[in-house]
Amino acid sequence: MAQDFANRTYSAATQPPARKKRRASGSQNIVHHTQRLLRKLFSIKAVYIPILSALVLLLVITTISSLSVDASVQLTHEEWLKTERNNVLNHAKIQKKVIVKSGDSAISSLSTLGFNFNDIVAMQAAAKNIHPLKRIQAGHTFSRHDIDGIIHVYYDIDASQKLHLKHSEQGWQASLEQNTTSHRQVYVQATISDSLFVAASKAGLDDRTTMNLVDVFAWDIDFARDLRKGDSFQVLYQEEYNDAGKVIGTTILNAVFTNQGRSYHAIRYQLKNGKDGYYSLDGKSLRKSYLKAPVKYSRISSRFRTARKHPILGYTRAHKGVDYAARTGTPIHALGDGRITFAGWKGGYGRLVQIRHTNRNHSTRYGHMSKFGRGIHKGVRVKQGQIIGYVGMSGLATGPHLHFEFRVRGRAVNPLHVKHTPAKPVPKAEMASFKKHANALQDNLKLSAQQSEWG
Ligand SMILES: [Zn+2]
Repeated sequence: MAQDFANRTYSAATQPPARKKRRASGSQNIVHHTQRLLRKLFSIKAVYIPILSALVLLLVITTISSLSVDASVQLTHEEWLKTERNNVLNHAKIQKKVIVKSGDSAISSLSTLGFNFNDIVAMQAAAKNIHPLKRIQAGHTFSRHDIDGIIHVYYDIDASQKLHLKHSEQGWQASLEQNTTSHRQVYVQATISDSLFVAASKAGLDDRTTMNLVDVFAWDIDFARDLRKGDSFQVLYQEEYNDAGKVIGTTILNAVFTNQGRSYHAIRYQLKNGKDGYYSLDGKSLRKSYLKAPVKYSRISSRFRTARKHPILGYTRAHKGVDYAARTGTPIHALGDGRITFAGWKGGYGRLVQIRHTNRNHSTRYGHMSKFGRGIHKGVRVKQGQIIGYVGMSGLATGPHLHFEFRVRGRAVNPLHVKHTPAKPVPKAEMASFKKHANALQDNLKLSAQQSEWG
């Protein structure tokens, strides 16, 4: 998704491509003038004029390119990792552009660009085995560029590729083209005085990256309760741009969060199997697992269902959890670390305990208890595996069982579908490679922090 982060301190960085476009079209005027001038002054044979014009255009583009590179050099603490030249020629003569609206077909979109039915049929035939025009989606763009008698039509498939339809003497031809994306690393640090989001935004971090930062540390830090004035963070992240100069995403590479004097590190690392995750400096996964089930020695007597006939109430209603049939008195364990947000009687649930986990997106509920665990009441912290109560049949229950719910952002999800991804550390065989990667990122972070202090 392209986003406009106009309020960022380094928003100037997104400008160069746009500037390039404007100047490039200006450069065509220069070319025309030059052509006329050359004809008048030197009466050079017409054959050489296009060649000379091309040279002039090349000169202009080179000058403009160096100008925009200069512009980005002025930005502190940021580094262009890979500055691939945008295909200036493709952008130089944009004639028409149409955004596919919901309900639009390829025919309606392409006719807006000035193509007749026969053309569109031929384009559809050419695109058929590359990216069928049936598959166009609302919100995506067709653009038409006429260059030297050849018509180019582009359709943006996704952030990384586009369909290119080209009309020349051979008729319509289709090909798939990779978008040139550029990356750069950005370093941001901040100390929290009022709220995380205020501090992050002042430092120039967009909300989406701030959310990602919260997610990375969500298993260790309770961002609603644990944050204190004076907490701080350092983030080294990568910004990805498409060839239109828009940010298409950010990836946190290395982050340090200091909470109440304790520093947590997150290193992004991709394992040899292609999976990536965040690890502490010693290679432990930042993701913590939950217990597979809150009760041992039990069987599932009723599964999660969006609608079912209730055994006692008689009418059909959803079953927003999983029932574990077990003997009365069987201990119930907290699925993960967290805080008790409810411990008491609640209607059909009978004796209910609700835990909001350290990862605040997650909460769990345990119903029909015969009694609560020792010291279990609202507001207390619980550890994973701690006994929070015992199986019973309080409330609406036909027999002793635990009614268990798992909620994500308040919404009940099927607990059996919650991925209990084992939070494995970096495998021993990859530890050397991980350490090397982590050290490089740490050096990068320290250097950026120093530059930030000097700047
Ligand atoms: Zn139930």
